[in-house]
Amino acid sequence: MRLCGITENMDIVLLGSTGSIGTQTLDVCRAHKIGVRALSANRNTALLEAQAREFRPECVCVFDESRYSDMKARLADTYIKVLCGMEGLCGLAGLKCGRVVNAVVGMVGLLPTLAAARAGNDIALANKETLVAGGRLVTDCVRENGVRLLPIDSEHSAIFQCLMGAMGNKLSKIILTASGGPFFGKSRAELESVTVEQALKQPNWSIGAKITVDSATLLNKWLELIEAVRLFDVTPDQVEIVVHRQSIIHSAVEFEDGAIIAQLGTADMRIPIQLALTYPKRLPCPAKKLSLFDAGALTFDRADEVTFRCLAAAKRAVTLDGSAPCIVNSANEAAVALFLKGKIGFLQIGDIVTEALDSLKIIQNPTIDDIMSAKSAAEEFVTSRAGI
Ligand code: MG
Repeated sequence: MRLCGITENMDIVLLGSTGSIGTQTLDVCRAHKIGVRALSANRNTALLEAQAREFRPECVCVFDESRYSDMKARLADTYIKVLCGMEGLCGLAGLKCGRVVNAVVGMVGLLPTLAAARAGNDIALANKETLVAGGRLVTDCVRENGVRLLPIDSEHSAIFQCLMGAMGNKLSKIILTASGGPFFGKSRAELESVTVEQALKQPNWSIGAKITVDSATLLNKWLELIEAVRLFDVTPDQVEIVVHRQSIIHSAVEFEDGAIIAQLGTADMRIPIQLALTYPKRLPCPAKKLSLFDAGALTFDRADEVTFRCLAAAKRAVTLDGSAPCIVNSANEAAVALFLKGKIGFLQIGDIVTEALDSLKIIQNPTIDDIMSAKSAAEEFVTSRAGI
């Protein structure tokens, strides 16, 4: 029998184990002796090998197929099965387990999320692009298969926790907090010459490169707005984005009587990750505890949508609905990748995403094929627009 201590036979499949959320998930597994059935990485075979030797999963998957033979050679002396590509990732997600933790970056996470739900697995979701691009395809699949979708994103975990005490009462508003990123208060002129290094300075959280840039452009907050709409069944108008520089309040909900319930804590992703694994139980966590005396003054500001064009484009996409959120998400993924390679400037990310939304055809009630076509069209648009 696998290790437990939380619930009998609790074990996980972890997709994206070498990234920031992945390594912090393994910290939680280490602390509570949670078993690991499978691990996957994009291309970091050295770290995946080290993790496999420590956690002894049944199988691992390396998404980048060109790394398959390297991975196979690294684990040749073990019984661990090695898979690769999207087929491998979906195969892992379909293994029966206590939770599938989806911590991959980008829309790559969509098909594995559907595979996990179809196999009857509860999903701890850190991959917000899945919900944004897949939309109702994902929420319907989760509902039809009777599985739980447990948010890892700190804001959504906070909202989820605030609603744990709702006793069936309806919420009237979600207050979605944002750190504001490294460029809060800056004008467009000041952002003309921003470097990759400056964009990667996230003030409060330890997170990966793509999401750090999304946090700097504020697009991350829009992805989270859609995520909240999908997870908590509210309208976009019921979600208020509030810039809260200290990242102490991780989000809040307002009920119909005007009472607001918030969740507070240190900015440590291991708290929401752990709750998604152990829910409904709360266990001691390796993260530092919050002292309100050390926190000091808390501030709240409106987001600047004139400077940060991504946010404005993205809000428009919510209203347009259909494949529009997928277009914005995919155009952003492609534009951020080009920015990280130094091929386009920081402000061009928002400009290109806006143009993609204005130019590409939007399909209502998209199928999975429509979603995949919208993704390719957005990627092609970004490549041609950037002149590459
Ligand atoms: Mg977040």
